[in-house]
Amino acid sequence: MLGLVCSACCVMAVQASEPASSDVEQSGVEQPGVDPSVIAQASAPLVLQLTVLNPRPNPAWPLLDDAKLEPLRPPPPPPPPVIIKKHLIESGDTLEKIFRQFDISYNDLHGVLQADEAYLVVDVIRPGSELIFEFSPEGAFQAMSLRPEINRLVTYRRQDDGFVYNETITPTEWKQHVVRADVKHSLYATILETGLSDRDAMEITNLLGNKVNFKRELRQGDMFDAVISDEYMGDQATGSRRLDAIKLTVRGKDHVAILFDDGNYYDDQGNSLTPALMRYPTKRRWRISSSFNPFRHHPITKRISPHNGTDFAAPIGTPVLATGDGIVTRVVKHAYAGLYVVIDNDGPFSTRFLHLSKALVKRGQRVSRGQKIALSGNSGRSTGAHLHYELHINGKPVNPMTAEIPTLVTVAKKDRDDFEQLVANYMPQLQRQAGLLDSGEG
Ligand SMILES: [Zn+2]
Repeated sequence: MLGLVCSACCVMAVQASEPASSDVEQSGVEQPGVDPSVIAQASAPLVLQLTVLNPRPNPAWPLLDDAKLEPLRPPPPPPPPVIIKKHLIESGDTLEKIFRQFDISYNDLHGVLQADEAYLVVDVIRPGSELIFEFSPEGAFQAMSLRPEINRLVTYRRQDDGFVYNETITPTEWKQHVVRADVKHSLYATILETGLSDRDAMEITNLLGNKVNFKRELRQGDMFDAVISDEYMGDQATGSRRLDAIKLTVRGKDHVAILFDDGNYYDDQGNSLTPALMRYPTKRRWRISSSFNPFRHHPITKRISPHNGTDFAAPIGTPVLATGDGIVTRVVKHAYAGLYVVIDNDGPFSTRFLHLSKALVKRGQRVSRGQKIALSGNSGRSTGAHLHYELHINGKPVNPMTAEIPTLVTVAKKDRDDFEQLVANYMPQLQRQAGLLDSGEG
């Protein structure tokens, strides 16, 4: 339209104009024969039209008639706000049930699940967490959001013919403090007494289990001391915790575990306490049918969808092994990922095994490296029998075939100075001074 020069166009431009833009007033463009107030009120496209008009109007053209221009259409009202509906998850809720409740189609449910396939976030929703649904003013479902962690907002938003995953992470800080307890009955109970969780207690007993025989060696009066960090967003704890340094004093002898910045635990001499991870989740090395690729085109949907793991062409029923010690956190059936298992491994590692035919472990179960946890399969949306294996470090998927995983038995030579500095920082905090433990139970 900009190329056309005629008054009819101008009129059309005025009538079709968007709300007046401030650019117009700043432009200072004035044209003979045109009321400057029209320019001042009209939109930017109108000004562009007027600047190319011939200053000597062709008599054949209809005159610009103020009466036709006035009153200018008032700026259209801002688009009506989207409709937000919230749902607090109750026990027994399923995503399918909730979608039905909100009258959202089965197709859209699958669109969301499909967008979630590479991330598997919706499966962590638990009673008490909240789902936020967004609808257009006409009532069409547009987006669903949730917070799998306090500081992480995940949204599945309608785009073209599907849904797109997006996440926003709010920065957090770690606050460190010391916990202490005297051993009474079991080490496990002692650890819980300090306010640490079951998960923490399992990790600690696993880290020190090779050094101390808890059943035979522990005595009343032995001491447990630890430096821990909790993650906070403002004043609110996110629920993430790091065990920075642990000391168990058994009959006067100290057993120490220090978390180094390579993600592994070492004793105070720098000997590794984190059992090494296995590179392959199966006994036999099956052919890799699809590699880790953050920018992969999905073979079925043809969209860019990250491939967060390594696919092994293992036949259905192949035993799947835990690649490291840890705790089973999920055994779930997903429309796209199929039956899958997630293990929270010791240290910063977690592992996922997708498209299984059978799980041999339960949620909450402690597993050890090399343990048979499942049978591979072809469940969910899958182009054929295979095992999809993911390795995450601090919650981020990495290439399981190339990632640096703990294989060292001691702190690397080049890191020795840094490690010794770290030990020197923690040891005074782990050391008891008279009156430090004010429990009165020791
Ligand atoms: Zn895969």
